[in-house]
Amino acid sequence: MIKVVKFGGSSLASAEQFKKVAAIIKAEPERRYVVPSAPGKRSKTDTKVTDMLYSCYDLAARGEDITTYFGEIETRYNSIIAELGLDLSLESEFNTIKNAFIHKAGRDYAASRGEYLNGIILAKYLGFDFIDAAEVIFFNENSQFDSERTNAVLSAELKKHEYAVIPGFYGSMPNDTIKTFSRGGSDITGSIVARAVNCDLYENWTDVDGFLMTDPRIVDDPRVISEITYKELRELSYMGAGVLHEDAIFPVRFAGIPINIRNTNNPEAHGTLILPTSEKYDTGNVITGVVGKKGFSVITIEKDMMNAEVGFGRRVLEVLENNEICFEHLPSGIDNMSIIINTHELEGRRDRLINGICRAVNPETIDIDEGIALIAVVGRAMVKAKGTAARVFKAISGAGINIRMIDQGSSEISIIVGVDEADFEEALRAIYQEFVY
Ligand code: ADP
Ligand code: ASP
Ligand code: MG
Repeated sequence: MIKVVKFGGSSLASAEQFKKVAAIIKAEPERRYVVPSAPGKRSKTDTKVTDMLYSCYDLAARGEDITTYFGEIETRYNSIIAELGLDLSLESEFNTIKNAFIHKAGRDYAASRGEYLNGIILAKYLGFDFIDAAEVIFFNENSQFDSERTNAVLSAELKKHEYAVIPGFYGSMPNDTIKTFSRGGSDITGSIVARAVNCDLYENWTDVDGFLMTDPRIVDDPRVISEITYKELRELSYMGAGVLHEDAIFPVRFAGIPINIRNTNNPEAHGTLILPTSEKYDTGNVITGVVGKKGFSVITIEKDMMNAEVGFGRRVLEVLENNEICFEHLPSGIDNMSIIINTHELEGRRDRLINGICRAVNPETIDIDEGIALIAVVGRAMVKAKGTAARVFKAISGAGINIRMIDQGSSEISIIVGVDEADFEEALRAIYQEFVY
């Protein structure tokens, strides 16, 4: 039995947290491969080391003196080393990094040092081998993660180590420069390591009791989901459930490895089990979760009889393609079609897009409505439970909120509704209350 364990930033923010982490790892000899993040916030007002590194690098890139600011980063690590009583000095590492900052080694390199240094400390504290992620995790020329090359090299390397620490968040490019995943990417590294050793369980340790049914920043104390499928997780994390990176699912899904979200500060809690499929339903919960995010726009195109016009949809989508715009949803009626896109996709391309659509299909009207929030109501039990959509709409209208868009995914495990951004939090609370209380 092999377990891969990933610890997030708040789990490794201080020496006190390192002690909890070591106790968890040492409690089970199966916990053999450890993926750490950089030190996170120790309190609400604290700054994550990753953010400090980005800011420090930006100072260096502007040619400013970084001695003081870099010194603060050194202090974060040195205080952890001192409080753990380790016989370890990172002085030469600090000098190398500072020099690289001054010589503009890149923002990704800068950010990656957070997990790199934390990995060295954690390996020393645990007595595990340290493996630099730059040697085993690869991106290709197009900056895409190279899963096959990584899997071959990483699994061969890990066979040589009974116990090892592999820092999260980064890997290397074909020209040996460092590249990071997007923010929160240590979850992806954990998943890559899990696949490489074909482990029995990937434990992802964080600061909440598991995957919660909704965003704890919007609803007080939401219920923990005990079991969730990969598909549901993908819908929820894509739509804003911040606890696990939305791409962390792919490497483990490939191998069918379960993920267990656990709380470093409350290791007794079972957490959330993420599985390929599940027949177990949390009692009384028709929905598994409800999440959402702001920042979408709806483009509405109206033209009489457009449903009878062969190639209409293709011509519209071709305009998006030519402008390199991805769309999120595409609900359509007899005489109208809506395209939901992320508002940032419109930046600098708005006029070109509108003109392109007008030329392509000559609509009667075309409107862009910014400031839309999307809410995803997700649940594998929804297929069986009649009237779920009606309950969602009743909850929203009962709160006096106007629904701007509805889309039920063909997978039948999710219903997406669009509301004005100003109504987002209220709508989310109303749906949660409808199903949970
Ligand atoms: P880590 O540093 O361990 O990777 P993150 O900050 O990335 O932790 O993720 C955990 C945080 O995600 C929680 O503290 C919580 O505030 C937030 N969060 C947002 N939505 C959810 C959700 N549905 N379930 C659990 N946590 C959520
Ligand atoms: N430290 C990185 C970040 O803050 C990666 C991670 O925490 O997963 O985004
Ligand atoms: Mg995270």
